[in-house]
Amino acid sequence: MQLPREVIVGRGTLPRIKEVVHRLNLSGSALIIAGSTSCEIAGKQVQDMLEQTGIIVDTLIVDAVTSKDVFMVEERIKAWRPRILLGIGGGTKIDAAKISSFRQGVPFISIPTTLSHDGIASPLASVKGFDKPYSIMAQAPLAIIADTDIISQAPWRSVISGCGDVIAKFTAVRDWRLAHEERSEYYGEYAASLALMSAKLVIQNADLFKPGNEEGLRVLLEALISCGVAMSIAGSSRPCSGSEHMFSHALDMINCPHGMHGEQCGVGSVLIAYLYKLNWQRIKDTLKRIGAPTTANELGVTDENVIDALEKASNVRPERYTILHKMRPDRETCEKVARATGVIR
Ligand SMILES: [Zn+2]
Repeated sequence: MQLPREVIVGRGTLPRIKEVVHRLNLSGSALIIAGSTSCEIAGKQVQDMLEQTGIIVDTLIVDAVTSKDVFMVEERIKAWRPRILLGIGGGTKIDAAKISSFRQGVPFISIPTTLSHDGIASPLASVKGFDKPYSIMAQAPLAIIADTDIISQAPWRSVISGCGDVIAKFTAVRDWRLAHEERSEYYGEYAASLALMSAKLVIQNADLFKPGNEEGLRVLLEALISCGVAMSIAGSSRPCSGSEHMFSHALDMINCPHGMHGEQCGVGSVLIAYLYKLNWQRIKDTLKRIGAPTTANELGVTDENVIDALEKASNVRPERYTILHKMRPDRETCEKVARATGVIR
């Protein structure tokens, strides 16, 4: 089980990188992976602060993140031999740092500038161009520094997406339990409770998620970090990723452009909760209150795309047993579910 050693969350916490590297006894060289925007808003500051501690820093800007970019980062790691990698940016930049550092045997520090999904603290990474359309096991961050002054500058839509990704844990945990009951899969009560508690917290605090409200950002950050820890404890993405995530991955594979990861998982969770006869209306109402999409139209996809994605979702991960693998809903049933929940008209 790999867990972060330092988690620092709050306003103006970025300068605390200096005390973190001191406590972790890091010296020598460091490599920063950031996007061009995240480099401007946080990367340069981090570089200056690390240099003040005597660490020699190199920064690599990556904008689109595909397997090719990961290989490029790995080449830089081999040439530069840093003691530590720092991923600064949204989910994709952190995933690029996470996976390349893991493949090269270097620890990494996660410095999120957006809160769009739970990858900021998890040991899993998802990068386009690798053989799987979903997240694969890499390594947990050694430390996480989340400065809400910086995160509050990100587009509001990314916060909505992060909320959707956390709310989706309701059905993810249900699928995990189903696999345990019917397929004797390992099920960890503690990891499952941690993921569920995060989802409950986001639902109970739905009214806090408003632009400019720092308290809402903190609640979401803590929920996303707890989800990452739940995956570390479980040793897989099981507590956080079930059939609603397969629905989102299936949408990614069908149609372009489409919604953000967490937005799609939120809608997926409404559909899957209906199949489980759970309180799907409550999930939908919360998404609405937060301002998250609840229909195909709001996701920017067609009704057909939603039906297609739900029908094909179980093929995304045939080995991960969920309600979709149990029920194998045909096209007609998928359409009925989407209509009954108001996802399509
Ligand atoms: Zn997710």
